[in-house]
Amino acid sequence: MQKRWHASKYQKLSIRKNSADIEDGQNSGSLDGSRIVNLDQLKQFISELSVHASQCDSSITLKGEKRAGLASILSCSCSKCDFSIPLNTSKKVLGPKGKMRWEVNLAAVWGQISTGGGFARLHESMGILGVPVMAPKNFVATERSIGLWWQEKLNKEMIAAGREEKRLAEERGDYHEGVPAITVVVDAGWCKRSHRHSYNAKSGVGIIVGQVTGKLLYLGVRNKECTACKQGFEVDKHQCFKNWDQSSSEMEPDIILSGFKEAERVHGLRYINFIGDGDSSVYPTLIQGVPGWGRYIKKMECANHACKCYRSSLEKLVQEKPQYKRNGGLPEKMRRRLACAARCAIKMRSKEADVPGTIKKLEKDLRNGPFHCFGIHTNCSVDFCKASHQNESSLSSSTVMSSDEPADNTHDELLTGMCDSRLR
Ligand SMILES: [Zn+2]
Ligand SMILES: [Zn+2]
Ligand SMILES: [Zn+2]
Repeated sequence: MQKRWHASKYQKLSIRKNSADIEDGQNSGSLDGSRIVNLDQLKQFISELSVHASQCDSSITLKGEKRAGLASILSCSCSKCDFSIPLNTSKKVLGPKGKMRWEVNLAAVWGQISTGGGFARLHESMGILGVPVMAPKNFVATERSIGLWWQEKLNKEMIAAGREEKRLAEERGDYHEGVPAITVVVDAGWCKRSHRHSYNAKSGVGIIVGQVTGKLLYLGVRNKECTACKQGFEVDKHQCFKNWDQSSSEMEPDIILSGFKEAERVHGLRYINFIGDGDSSVYPTLIQGVPGWGRYIKKMECANHACKCYRSSLEKLVQEKPQYKRNGGLPEKMRRRLACAARCAIKMRSKEADVPGTIKKLEKDLRNGPFHCFGIHTNCSVDFCKASHQNESSLSSSTVMSSDEPADNTHDELLTGMCDSRLR
């Protein structure tokens, strides 16, 4: 069994006492515990110290400490003369709102935000290490500043992405009623399951991404609960994050609709085509909700989602009827091949220009997929299946099937990567 080290109760208590005793900006009387020291700062300090020590032939002693969260200014002075030199344990960097901030404090709070922690976790882990931390109110203020900083950066990135999508749409000549029009990919998510039970989370997130650039154009969040409200703080006395009081499943259409509604104002674009998952209720919401051009929006099915749903249905089928799992039925390899054949057909047909004709061909390929996988090639399209080429004795211009592998292995060979990465 893995051994875990725990600080003794005494250690924790004494460390906490030390940390709590020293408020930020105060001079600390006792110099104990540990500190996080930036090595560049230490190098510079040592070189300055050595120069003075060689000139004065004296000893240098550590006199005191002024704390600023996890950063400290340690003051050192010469035993012979008035010389004193500070060691700043952290560098100062340009932080949120253009202010100079201690790097270690920003990094400590940033790390907690990134890993889903907070003041309590930082306090606990640093307490065990014997490193004093900032006061809770300073942690919260830094957390808020970093949040606003991220938001500002994100907004700039999204505006730049919109500008790029607009330029590319203009170059392609893609307009709707004189406004540059683009295709976007939309998706949303909220926690649904944990171990052995399902639930709907209180928060959901939705995104809109430009298809050509693959960059984020919109991000929306809906929260059904606010921790501060739950703790009884008045709404006008805290930054309230609650912005949703309907069902969790309605979060996705609402977020995406908000993004579409502000597309023209923010980016000067219209999201005239969108790619989304098959089971989403987003499409009707957009058609009805986007004023003016909403009725012209077209939905394109996401090939990844379509294949994922196909594979999930096959998995559900064998779960309900385990007898299908045996060889000659739907063993794991066959289920994977069926999904691969569908993916292969979509990929192949997506390259064709004649859209109405291609849709019919794709429908035929998809319906014929199981027959093809089980070795019945009488209805396979010639450009899809090598076996049907052989049937027709015309092996001249195969696009998909050009290997010498037996026909029933070809999709596996061609799509191994695709199967492994996307279709499971
Ligand atoms: Zn001296
Ligand atoms: Zn609130
Ligand atoms: Zn075939």
